[in-house]
Amino acid sequence: MKVPFSTLARLHEDLREEMADAFSRVYDSGMFIRSKECSAFEEEFAAYCGARYALGVASGLDALVVALKALDVGPGDDVVLPANTFIATALAVSAVGANVVLADPDEKTCNMTARGFLSAITENTKVVIPVHLYGQPAEIEEIAKEAATRGVLVVEDCAQAHGALCGGKHVGTFGAIGCFSFYPGKNLGALGDGGAVITDSEELADRMRRIANYGSSIRYHHEEKGINSRLDELQAAFLRVKLRHLDACNEARSLIAVRYLENIRNPLVALPCVEPGRDHVWHIFAIHCVERDALRDHLRQRGIETVCHYPVTIADQGAYASDGRLSPTPLARRLADTELSLPLYFGMTDEEIDYVIDALNAFNGGGGNRAA
Ligand SMILES: *Cc1c(COP(=O)(O)O)cnc(C)c1O
Repeated sequence: MKVPFSTLARLHEDLREEMADAFSRVYDSGMFIRSKECSAFEEEFAAYCGARYALGVASGLDALVVALKALDVGPGDDVVLPANTFIATALAVSAVGANVVLADPDEKTCNMTARGFLSAITENTKVVIPVHLYGQPAEIEEIAKEAATRGVLVVEDCAQAHGALCGGKHVGTFGAIGCFSFYPGKNLGALGDGGAVITDSEELADRMRRIANYGSSIRYHHEEKGINSRLDELQAAFLRVKLRHLDACNEARSLIAVRYLENIRNPLVALPCVEPGRDHVWHIFAIHCVERDALRDHLRQRGIETVCHYPVTIADQGAYASDGRLSPTPLARRLADTELSLPLYFGMTDEEIDYVIDALNAFNGGGGNRAA
């Protein structure tokens, strides 16, 4: 049997007609940038998240950049983010000229904790960016509380956690601004690039709208040096369709995760840890195994495709090699060396899930170190 790491084919088959209608609507309207679909999506997405405002932008990276610019983050400011996130979180900080400061995550959840944040905080920390990694909310309530007492602003990176809840409240609504990516493979994905920021602050919403629109709120009048970052009409129309199915899709992901959690039994494999009170939306089902590469080969030989999220820590990336302030911690490196993401996608059949489970349970080591 062949099991891909991910495929959109089954979801897109189910949505074919609705998506085709969305395409025709935009095609016939003749309006392709920031028109009705875009504002309708912004309203619907804000309402879904329980935020007052949403603004569509061109990507998840841009969402972070626009958020940081709106908070006037720049040279001389430190921004704390997790040592084990996708590079975009760090690149957004670098893009505005601020300094990346890395915090070690919790070893079990792989997520940022209040303790990790506090041990990374500096005199110049202006913003903290908790990432709801793999789809599980980070320790966001505690981080937001600690940040507030220290005058640090919170920007949430929700690129992997559309629809995830913490204490019944949507991620993205705990800090000043929540940032989302609609890259096709995310839980809410467009048919191309896209992103959004959400906020409850009218002032920040207006500022972000201006920044993403060439620094202009009145046509051809540019109050600041903005950028061009727009969610286009077609993607907005597609996203409106997908948003209506997001909860059902997340529920389908959760059923697959539960089947994995209940049936994978291998002392060499550490399963993901779900914290009480947090609704994990399973963007990624991350396991850890000391003999990760041998396990990956074992699965590949059986036709099962896996991915590592992420094999190289931010501090170890070539892009940050010249940044003398960053140094990888043993924990960040250990997570990078042991992480393996299992196949998980809408429409995955029980046969496929059980095939992956059996293959994992049959792994008895690559002959190396067995301590897990
Ligand atoms: C995907 C992702 C981003 C960036 O999103 P793009 O739309 O690809 O720019 C940012 N942060 C995290 C954690 C992500 O997973």
